[in-house]
Amino acid sequence: MGRCPFPGLTDRQLLRDLMRMAGPAVDLAPPLELARLLHSLQVMLSPAAYREVLLSFGPRLRRRLRDAPPALLSACCEPGDGGSWPAWWRQEVLRPWAAELRRLRRALVAGPWQKRSLYERELRRLQLSDLGDAWQLPLLRSLGATASSAVFARRALRAVLRRRRALDASSPWALRALGFVAWDLGGVREDGKLVSTATREMSAELDADKLLSVDLGFLERRYRRHGDLERIVLLELLERSAGRQAAGTVDLFVDRPVCISCLGVIAQFRALLPMVQLRFAFLSPPFFSREPSQQRLQGVIREEPRGTSLEELDSRFWDP
Ligand SMILES: [Zn+2]
Repeated sequence: MGRCPFPGLTDRQLLRDLMRMAGPAVDLAPPLELARLLHSLQVMLSPAAYREVLLSFGPRLRRRLRDAPPALLSACCEPGDGGSWPAWWRQEVLRPWAAELRRLRRALVAGPWQKRSLYERELRRLQLSDLGDAWQLPLLRSLGATASSAVFARRALRAVLRRRRALDASSPWALRALGFVAWDLGGVREDGKLVSTATREMSAELDADKLLSVDLGFLERRYRRHGDLERIVLLELLERSAGRQAAGTVDLFVDRPVCISCLGVIAQFRALLPMVQLRFAFLSPPFFSREPSQQRLQGVIREEPRGTSLEELDSRFWDP
């Protein structure tokens, strides 16, 4: 979803009202409900405004962070614009979050080969779909993947945008991730093609013995992940290498955050074909600095989107 209903919120009064209303929830809401509230604010507000909200909660939020579940830590981990955070935030948010990321990385590297149920439990432990823009590239790097070139990222974005422009934002396809992949595998080249998710088109257990996906999502939600485009691409490459220790490079652009299941699929692929260099690009910094528009994320709004999630809200009618 785009950052609505208050994109780039600058209205000081509105921000103050928001904080006043959220105050009791910060004190009293169960930890996961608080995580849900903070995630909603994070989506609605600009990074700078969200950061201001977090800091304004100060000691009352700090109290809630003792024994906080990972989803709440994640909701507090807004790196913002690189400005300074108070010492308690580093101590009580960033450190435990970093420990969670290290634990996740260990599970990803160990893979599902020893015990599938343990692997699934560890990947679902954070109760998150993805790690967020700021953390996914560092984690991918720690798994041995690297960043694609800016030239590839721009070429991929152009191809993906051409497809997005042809999509109506209200169609189910608009919600699906789109990707663009190019490779050179042992001299066999693919110069670039679009890829999309295929969850409904393939069975959940197909090729689970090769690259295992894990159904997961935010808090109690579980989405099917076996047809995610990252897995589709890597399964095709495994098939093309046909048991040979192929060497080469793969560049993959994805216009959604990489989910935790796909981080696992990437780690499994790296273990199977360590000579293949995986490079990634996303719709976020350092590849693109501007906030993506709704058209970039979902396609073109052609009809009046009244009564759908795409309907614009008008802050003039919001009376706290
Ligand atoms: Zn995924």
